[in-house]
Amino acid sequence: MNRIVGIDLGTTNSLIAVVENKRPRVLERGGQRLIPSVVGRTDDNRIIVGQEALNQYVLAPERTVRSIKRKMGTTEPVKLGDGSHSPEEISAFILRHLKQMAEEILGEKVDRAVITVPAYFNDAQRQATTRAGQIAGLEVVRIINEPTAAALVYGLDQQANQYLMVYDLGGGTFDVSIIEQHGEIMEVRSSHGNVHLGGDDFDERVLQHLLAHLSGEHRYDFKEDRRAMARLVRAAERAKTKLSDAPYAKVTEEFLARYDGQAIHLNTEIGREEFEGMIEDLLDSTIESVHKALGDATLTAEQINRVLLVGGSTRIPRVWELIKSELGIEPSIEVNPDEAVALGAAVQAAIIDGDDVQTMLIDVSPHSLGVEVASIIMGDLVPGFYKPIIRRNTTIPTTKSERFYTISPQQDTVEVSVFQGESQVCVDNTLLGQFKLSGLPPSENPELPREVIIEFSYNLNGVVEVSARDRRGERCEMMTVNAATGKRAASEVETKHHFDPALEQDVARSLKEATTLELELEADGNREDAERLRGARHALEEAHEQGGEKQVREAVEAIEDLIYDLE
Ligand code: AMP
Repeated sequence: MNRIVGIDLGTTNSLIAVVENKRPRVLERGGQRLIPSVVGRTDDNRIIVGQEALNQYVLAPERTVRSIKRKMGTTEPVKLGDGSHSPEEISAFILRHLKQMAEEILGEKVDRAVITVPAYFNDAQRQATTRAGQIAGLEVVRIINEPTAAALVYGLDQQANQYLMVYDLGGGTFDVSIIEQHGEIMEVRSSHGNVHLGGDDFDERVLQHLLAHLSGEHRYDFKEDRRAMARLVRAAERAKTKLSDAPYAKVTEEFLARYDGQAIHLNTEIGREEFEGMIEDLLDSTIESVHKALGDATLTAEQINRVLLVGGSTRIPRVWELIKSELGIEPSIEVNPDEAVALGAAVQAAIIDGDDVQTMLIDVSPHSLGVEVASIIMGDLVPGFYKPIIRRNTTIPTTKSERFYTISPQQDTVEVSVFQGESQVCVDNTLLGQFKLSGLPPSENPELPREVIIEFSYNLNGVVEVSARDRRGERCEMMTVNAATGKRAASEVETKHHFDPALEQDVARSLKEATTLELELEADGNREDAERLRGARHALEEAHEQGGEKQVREAVEAIEDLIYDLE
C-alpha cells in the first residue's frame, strides 16, 4: 500500500509532508513548499489554487477565496465567481491540489492522509475537515491537533514525561497550547488564543504606517486605488519579514500612482524598533493568552519543560524575547516554524503505517556569534561587552544583521571583533577574527554618531562571512571566519535549566550588573577587583547551568554582596 501523507491545512498556507528514509520532510515543487490556502476561479471558469490564486486575489477578489479555514464547520455558502460552494468544497480544492502535487513528486498514488486542525476545533469543524478530505479523494486516517503535531517533531523517540508549550503565531490566527507528554502519549491540557490575530494584522499596522507617511506628502486617496493598495500591502509584508533579520527595511515603490499629472513614488524606511512599537499591544495580548493557558492547565511557568515556536510570525525576534523574559525559558527555534506542524503530521502518518521514524537532524549554529561593543557608563567608555548577532541553536544557513553606532559623531573608523560564545563579556568567549572599517561617512545629522551595519552570514559548512558597512553601503569591509557547525536532533537540542521567573530575573540582573562593573574596573586598570568579580560571576553562571535552586540563590547573594562592596 502507498504511504500516508501528512497535511497541514492552514488558514494562510498549507503544506504536505512525508517520511522518507525514516525522516520527515516537506514536499517542494519549484522551490515552493508553502502553498497559499487560496482558491480562485479564472475568467474562463477554471479553478486555480495556491500562488496563482493568491496573485489573482488582488485583481479579482470576487472570484477568489482566502482563509476558508475560518468557515469550516458552518454551512455558509461561499461565492466563487458565478458559482457557490460549501466551505468543505473549497477546502477540498486545496487538498486535491496538494494530493496531485504529492503524486507528481513522489511518483505514486496518494490516497490516505493525516490532517491537522487547531486544538480548539470542535466536532463539527473536525468532521468538515474529514469530509473535505473525502471530497478530494483522500481517506483521512486521522485528524490530529496542530500543537500535538509540532510536539511530535520535537519530542520524537523521546520517552520523556514532560510539559510542552506550543506557541503558534501564524498569518491569521494565534494559539498557545500546553501539552502533557507521557512517553508516546501526548495530550493537550489547555489551549487559548485568538482566531483573528496574526501576521496579517502586523502587515495591516505597517500598511497604515505607510499610508500615513504618504498622506503627509500627497493628497491622493490610495484607498480607492486597488492596484496601488495591493502593492502597498505586499510592500508592508516584505518590510515586516525583512525586519526579522535586519535592523531596518527600505520600502521603495516607484510609480505607485499619478495625481495632478505627477507620478507618486514611495521611498521610506522602517526601523525594527519602530515596527516592534507598532505591534506591541498585539504581542502583549498573546502573552496574556500564555498566562491563561497556564492557568487553565493549573501549571506554573517553571513546570514547563520546553516552549516550541510554530507559525511564520514567530520569526519576529521580539516574540522570542518576550517569551524568554516572561517565562524564563529559551524557546526552541530549531525546526522551521512554518513546517513543524506538517512534519509532525507526516511523523504521525508514519507511526500509523508502522514505519520506523528517526529524529530529524537539523543544522544549527552550536554557539552564538557576535561582536564586541563598548558602552558609555557614567561618562566612561567601557569596552568588552559581547553582543550576539546569531543566537545559539539557530538553524543554518542564516543571515542576520544589526545596526550599531560609533561612540562619537567624529569617529570614522570602527574595529570589528568577531566572537563565538554565550558570555556577556568578550574575554570569556572565543575570538574568531578582527577587521577595521574606516572612512565611515557622517550621519545625516552630523551631531549624531555614525551608523555601522554589521551582517553575519553563516553557511552550512560553518563558514561565516562578517561584513561591516555604512548605511548607504559606500564603505564596506568583510572577512570570513570559521565557526563550528553541529547537527542536532530536534529532540536533543538542550534547553536551559530554568528556575522560578523571579529568581531567573535576579540571576539576569546580577549577571548584568557584575558584567558592567567588571568591565568598568578593567577599564580603570583595577585588575584585581575585576578578577574577583569575574570569579563570582563564573560561580553564578555555573550554579545556574548545573546547580539546584539553593546554590543559585547563594551565588546571587554572594555576587550582590561583592558588587555592593566594590561599588
Ligand atoms: P503561517 O500561517 O505559519 O504560514 O505564517 C504565515 C505568516 O508568517 C505570514 O503573516 C507571514 O508574513 C509571516 N512570516 C513569515 N516569515 C516571516 C518573517 N521572517 N518575519 C515575520 N513574519 C514572517
